[in-house]
Amino acid sequence: MKKIFLSIVLCFSMLLFFDNASAQRDWRNTDKDRNVAAEIDSITKGGYTLIWINKDPDFNQDIKKRLIDTYFITYPQLAKDFNRATLKSVTFVIDPEYKGVAATSGGVIRYNPEWFVKNPSDIDVVTHEVMHVIQSYPHRAGPGWLTEGVADYVRFKYGVANEETNWSLTEFNEKQSYENSYRITARFLHWVVTHHDKKFVKKLDHALREGKYDEDFWVKRTGSTVDQLWEEYSKNPII
Ligand SMILES: [Zn+2]
Repeated sequence: MKKIFLSIVLCFSMLLFFDNASAQRDWRNTDKDRNVAAEIDSITKGGYTLIWINKDPDFNQDIKKRLIDTYFITYPQLAKDFNRATLKSVTFVIDPEYKGVAATSGGVIRYNPEWFVKNPSDIDVVTHEVMHVIQSYPHRAGPGWLTEGVADYVRFKYGVANEETNWSLTEFNEKQSYENSYRITARFLHWVVTHHDKKFVKKLDHALREGKYDEDFWVKRTGSTVDQLWEEYSKNPII
Protein backbone atom coordinates (compact mmCIF):
# COMPACT_ATOMS: atom_id res chain seq x y z
CA MET A 1 0.00 0.00 0.00
CA LYS A 2 1.35 3.35 -1.01
CA LYS A 3 0.77 6.13 1.45
CA ILE A 4 1.72 9.67 0.68
CA PHE A 5 0.89 13.04 2.13
CA LEU A 6 1.05 15.67 -0.57
CA SER A 7 -0.24 19.16 -1.02
CA ILE A 8 -3.50 19.25 -2.87
CA VAL A 9 -1.67 20.73 -5.83
CA LEU A 10 -0.13 17.30 -6.39
CA CYS A 11 -3.55 15.75 -5.87
CA PHE A 12 -4.64 17.43 -9.06
CA SER A 13 -2.43 15.14 -11.09
CA MET A 14 -4.12 12.16 -9.40
CA LEU A 15 -7.47 13.68 -10.20
CA LEU A 16 -6.69 13.38 -13.88
CA PHE A 17 -7.40 9.69 -13.45
CA PHE A 18 -10.87 10.32 -12.09
CA ASP A 19 -13.72 8.86 -14.05
CA ASN A 20 -15.96 11.85 -13.89
CA ALA A 21 -14.92 15.11 -15.49
CA SER A 22 -17.32 17.36 -13.62
CA ALA A 23 -16.29 15.90 -10.29
CA GLN A 24 -12.65 16.71 -11.10
CA ARG A 25 -13.47 20.30 -11.75
CA ASP A 26 -15.42 20.71 -8.53
CA TRP A 27 -12.62 19.39 -6.43
CA ARG A 28 -10.00 21.46 -8.11
CA ASN A 29 -11.87 24.71 -7.52
CA THR A 30 -12.80 23.93 -3.95
CA ASP A 31 -9.36 22.94 -2.87
CA LYS A 32 -7.23 25.39 -4.76
CA ASP A 33 -8.71 28.13 -2.61
CA ARG A 34 -8.12 26.30 0.65
CA ASN A 35 -4.82 24.54 -0.11
CA VAL A 36 -5.85 21.54 1.99
CA ALA A 37 -3.47 18.63 2.53
CA ALA A 38 -4.78 15.21 1.60
CA GLU A 39 -3.77 11.63 2.33
CA ILE A 40 -3.78 9.47 -0.79
CA ASP A 41 -3.70 5.69 -1.00
CA SER A 42 -4.13 3.49 -4.02
CA ILE A 43 -5.05 -0.13 -3.33
CA THR A 44 -5.57 -2.85 -5.94
CA LYS A 45 -6.92 -6.33 -5.22
CA GLY A 46 -8.36 -8.95 -7.54
CA GLY A 47 -8.54 -6.58 -10.50
CA TYR A 48 -10.31 -3.75 -8.63
CA THR A 49 -8.70 -0.53 -7.46
CA LEU A 50 -9.68 1.87 -4.73
CA ILE A 51 -8.16 5.34 -4.65
CA TRP A 52 -8.49 6.76 -1.15
CA ILE A 53 -8.26 10.52 -0.68
CA ASN A 54 -8.67 11.75 2.88
CA LYS A 55 -8.90 15.44 3.65
CA ASP A 56 -9.65 14.98 7.36
CA PRO A 57 -6.45 14.55 9.42
CA ASP A 58 -8.53 13.29 12.39
CA PHE A 59 -10.33 10.55 10.47
CA ASN A 60 -10.44 7.34 12.51
CA GLN A 61 -8.02 4.70 11.12
CA ASP A 62 -10.20 1.75 12.14
CA ILE A 63 -13.13 3.20 10.22
CA LYS A 64 -10.84 3.84 7.26
CA LYS A 65 -9.89 0.16 7.27
CA ARG A 66 -13.51 -0.96 7.54
CA LEU A 67 -14.63 1.29 4.66
CA ILE A 68 -11.83 0.00 2.44
CA ASP A 69 -12.42 -3.64 3.42
CA THR A 70 -16.13 -3.25 2.67
CA TYR A 71 -15.37 -1.90 -0.79
CA PHE A 72 -13.27 -4.98 -1.59
CA ILE A 73 -15.98 -7.31 -0.26
CA THR A 74 -19.10 -5.78 -1.80
CA TYR A 75 -18.00 -4.04 -5.00
CA PRO A 76 -16.55 -7.11 -6.79
CA GLN A 77 -19.56 -9.15 -5.68
CA LEU A 78 -22.03 -6.56 -6.97
CA ALA A 79 -20.05 -6.28 -10.21
CA LYS A 80 -20.36 -10.03 -10.65
CA ASP A 81 -24.07 -10.13 -9.83
CA PHE A 82 -25.24 -6.94 -11.56
CA ASN A 83 -22.79 -5.35 -13.98
CA ARG A 84 -19.53 -6.95 -15.04
CA ALA A 85 -18.74 -3.94 -17.23
CA THR A 86 -18.65 -1.55 -14.25
CA LEU A 87 -15.59 0.63 -13.54
CA LYS A 88 -12.49 -1.20 -12.31
CA SER A 89 -11.40 1.77 -10.23
CA VAL A 90 -13.43 3.77 -7.70
CA THR A 91 -12.33 6.82 -5.70
CA PHE A 92 -13.38 7.53 -2.11
CA VAL A 93 -12.97 11.10 -0.89
CA ILE A 94 -13.31 11.84 2.83
CA ASP A 95 -14.38 15.45 2.67
CA PRO A 96 -15.14 17.63 5.71
CA GLU A 97 -16.62 20.22 3.35
CA TYR A 98 -19.36 17.84 2.25
CA LYS A 99 -22.41 18.09 4.52
CA GLY A 100 -24.62 15.23 3.33
CA VAL A 101 -23.88 11.60 4.34
CA ALA A 102 -22.35 10.45 1.04
CA ALA A 103 -22.78 11.12 -2.67
CA THR A 104 -21.66 9.35 -5.82
CA SER A 105 -20.85 10.92 -9.16
CA GLY A 106 -19.44 8.57 -11.79
CA GLY A 107 -16.69 6.62 -10.03
CA VAL A 108 -16.15 9.17 -7.24
CA ILE A 109 -17.82 8.78 -3.84
CA ARG A 110 -17.62 11.60 -1.31
CA TYR A 111 -18.18 10.89 2.38
CA ASN A 112 -18.81 13.27 5.26
CA PRO A 113 -16.34 12.30 8.04
CA GLU A 114 -18.65 13.79 10.68
CA TRP A 115 -21.25 11.13 9.84
CA PHE A 116 -18.82 8.38 10.87
CA VAL A 117 -17.93 10.18 14.11
CA LYS A 118 -21.63 10.03 15.01
CA ASN A 119 -22.35 6.65 13.36
CA PRO A 120 -19.07 4.68 13.47
CA SER A 121 -20.65 1.36 12.53
CA ASP A 122 -22.66 2.65 9.55
CA ILE A 123 -20.11 1.02 7.27
CA ASP A 124 -22.63 -0.11 4.66
CA VAL A 125 -22.99 3.44 3.43
CA VAL A 126 -20.21 2.03 1.21
CA THR A 127 -22.44 -0.81 -0.04
CA HIS A 128 -25.22 1.63 -0.94
CA GLU A 129 -22.89 4.06 -2.69
CA VAL A 130 -20.86 1.51 -4.67
CA MET A 131 -24.18 0.20 -5.98
CA HIS A 132 -24.68 3.64 -7.52
CA VAL A 133 -21.38 3.13 -9.37
CA ILE A 134 -22.62 -0.27 -10.57
CA GLN A 135 -25.98 1.22 -11.60
CA SER A 136 -24.59 4.03 -13.78
CA TYR A 137 -28.06 4.51 -15.23
CA PRO A 138 -28.27 6.91 -18.14
CA HIS A 139 -30.01 10.24 -17.58
CA ARG A 140 -33.79 9.79 -17.18
CA ALA A 141 -33.53 5.99 -17.31
CA GLY A 142 -36.11 5.78 -14.54
CA PRO A 143 -37.45 7.54 -11.45
CA GLY A 144 -35.05 8.51 -8.66
CA TRP A 145 -37.04 6.56 -6.04
CA LEU A 146 -36.27 3.37 -7.96
CA THR A 147 -32.52 4.12 -8.13
CA GLU A 148 -32.41 4.68 -4.37
CA GLY A 149 -34.74 1.78 -3.64
CA VAL A 150 -32.48 -0.60 -5.57
CA ALA A 151 -29.37 0.74 -3.75
CA ASP A 152 -30.97 0.17 -0.33
CA TYR A 153 -32.29 -3.26 -1.40
CA VAL A 154 -28.68 -4.12 -2.26
CA ARG A 155 -27.48 -2.79 1.08
CA PHE A 156 -30.07 -5.02 2.76
CA LYS A 157 -28.95 -8.11 0.78
CA TYR A 158 -25.17 -7.57 0.65
CA GLY A 159 -24.41 -5.32 3.63
CA VAL A 160 -21.67 -6.46 6.03
CA ALA A 161 -22.69 -4.58 9.20
CA ASN A 162 -26.40 -3.75 8.97
CA GLU A 163 -27.29 -5.55 12.19
CA GLU A 164 -24.38 -4.05 14.07
CA THR A 165 -25.60 -0.56 13.25
CA ASN A 166 -29.27 -1.47 13.67
CA TRP A 167 -30.10 -0.73 10.02
CA SER A 168 -33.11 -2.51 8.60
CA LEU A 169 -35.87 -2.11 6.01
CA THR A 170 -38.66 0.23 7.14
CA GLU A 171 -41.70 -1.65 8.44
CA PHE A 172 -44.80 -1.17 6.31
CA ASN A 173 -47.48 1.31 7.31
CA GLU A 174 -50.47 2.60 5.36
CA LYS A 175 -49.15 6.12 4.93
CA GLN A 176 -46.33 4.86 2.71
CA SER A 177 -46.03 4.81 -1.08
CA TYR A 178 -43.63 2.89 -3.29
CA GLU A 179 -42.32 6.31 -4.34
CA ASN A 180 -41.06 7.03 -0.82
CA SER A 181 -37.66 5.76 -1.97
CA TYR A 182 -34.77 4.28 0.04
CA ARG A 183 -35.74 1.66 2.65
CA ILE A 184 -39.48 1.89 2.00
CA THR A 185 -39.07 1.14 -1.71
CA ALA A 186 -36.35 -1.41 -0.88
CA ARG A 187 -38.77 -3.36 1.33
CA PHE A 188 -41.39 -3.33 -1.44
CA LEU A 189 -38.77 -4.59 -3.95
CA HIS A 190 -37.81 -7.33 -1.53
CA TRP A 191 -41.49 -8.29 -1.25
CA VAL A 192 -41.81 -8.43 -5.08
CA VAL A 193 -38.71 -10.65 -5.22
CA THR A 194 -40.08 -12.91 -2.49
CA HIS A 195 -43.66 -13.17 -3.72
CA HIS A 196 -43.47 -12.75 -7.51
CA ASP A 197 -40.10 -12.90 -9.24
CA LYS A 198 -36.77 -13.99 -7.76
CA LYS A 199 -34.85 -12.13 -10.47
CA PHE A 200 -36.93 -8.96 -10.32
CA VAL A 201 -34.29 -6.53 -8.99
CA LYS A 202 -31.55 -7.99 -11.18
CA LYS A 203 -33.70 -7.58 -14.29
CA LEU A 204 -34.92 -4.16 -13.18
CA ASP A 205 -31.37 -2.92 -12.67
CA HIS A 206 -30.38 -4.23 -16.09
CA ALA A 207 -33.38 -2.64 -17.83
CA LEU A 208 -32.65 0.72 -16.19
CA ARG A 209 -29.00 0.63 -17.25
CA GLU A 210 -29.94 -0.33 -20.81
CA GLY A 211 -32.50 2.49 -21.01
CA LYS A 212 -35.24 -0.12 -21.47
CA TYR A 213 -37.26 0.52 -18.35
CA ASP A 214 -40.81 1.84 -18.46
CA GLU A 215 -43.92 1.19 -16.36
CA ASP A 216 -44.75 -1.91 -18.43
CA PHE A 217 -41.68 -3.56 -16.95
CA TRP A 218 -43.68 -4.42 -13.81
CA VAL A 219 -46.46 -6.02 -15.86
CA LYS A 220 -44.04 -7.98 -18.04
CA ARG A 221 -42.24 -9.46 -15.04
CA THR A 222 -45.15 -10.00 -12.63
CA GLY A 223 -48.43 -9.73 -14.57
CA SER A 224 -49.45 -6.70 -12.46
CA THR A 225 -48.88 -2.96 -12.59
CA VAL A 226 -46.79 -1.31 -9.89
CA ASP A 227 -49.98 0.11 -8.35
CA GLN A 228 -51.64 -3.31 -8.31
CA LEU A 229 -48.55 -4.80 -6.71
CA TRP A 230 -48.47 -2.08 -4.06
CA GLU A 231 -52.14 -2.73 -3.33
CA GLU A 232 -51.39 -6.41 -2.88
CA TYR A 233 -48.33 -5.60 -0.76
CA SER A 234 -50.32 -3.27 1.49
CA LYS A 235 -52.83 -6.07 2.18
CA ASN A 236 -50.15 -8.59 3.01
CA PRO A 237 -46.78 -6.90 3.63
CA ILE A 238 -45.09 -9.92 5.16
CA ILE A 239 -41.58 -10.52 3.85
ZN1 LIG B 1 -28.22 6.72 -2.84
